[in-house]
Amino acid sequence: MLSHESIAARIGKIQQQIEAACVRSGRSSGDVRLMAVSKTHPAEAIASAYAAGLRLFGENRVQEFQQKLPLLEDLGVRVSGHQESVDGIAEIRFIGHLQSNKAGRAAEIFSGIDTVDSLKLAQRLDEAASRLARRLSILIEIKLSGESTKSGLAPESRELAELLERLPDLAGVEMRGLMTVAPLDENSETARSCFRRLYGLREELAVRYPRLDFNELSTGMSGDFEIAIEEGSTLVRIGTAIFGARPQPA
Ligand SMILES: *Cc1c(COP(=O)(O)O)cnc(C)c1O
Repeated sequence: MLSHESIAARIGKIQQQIEAACVRSGRSSGDVRLMAVSKTHPAEAIASAYAAGLRLFGENRVQEFQQKLPLLEDLGVRVSGHQESVDGIAEIRFIGHLQSNKAGRAAEIFSGIDTVDSLKLAQRLDEAASRLARRLSILIEIKLSGESTKSGLAPESRELAELLERLPDLAGVEMRGLMTVAPLDENSETARSCFRRLYGLREELAVRYPRLDFNELSTGMSGDFEIAIEEGSTLVRIGTAIFGARPQPA
């Protein structure tokens, strides 16, 4: 694990890069939030990023985060459980593939689910959130590359249309926008065209489904977040550039 100081220094550098990318693209730096992707990293690493001022974290396994949660509390990190971040309280969002049978547990420990990729999952989250008398904010994951290993709904799919039609009636979930993962590619223009397509899709869907909120565009990771910001990202998800290489592939 990287030292406390080195995590703080890396965060400072990323914040400068975010700022510069915003200036280049005529955006305000307040329009782009930084999520620290802490999956596979220990609670101590989250505590270092929290001490450096970060309040938004991404995790991709229910059980892993369930184990880290009490450790975070011991380390003095205040976690929102299921409300959204208020001053000083860290918000932890889920960014992995969520099986429907884990929706109940996820709704209890995460402040939101950024990778909703089926109608069934949205319905399970709605039921779970309603039982907890809360609203769970969600993003819909869109798959823009043909890679069969990637999760997410295809832009033209019947299931995406059906999900968007049903969402206004699911009182337990609150739709906030879209997210995607760009394909792994040496050529940065591949990522750029993917982010640009998601932006275009968002514009279209916002017109077609005026009852839904599409403001959040979660795009960009360690290798491509500056491009993502130039292409309209409102939330960048950064793991490796903050915490170093992950202990095991995740
Ligand atoms: C792991 C992960 C990230 C962070 O990736 P890095 O390249 O380490 O910054 C971002 N988004 C998702 C969905 C991830 O699973």
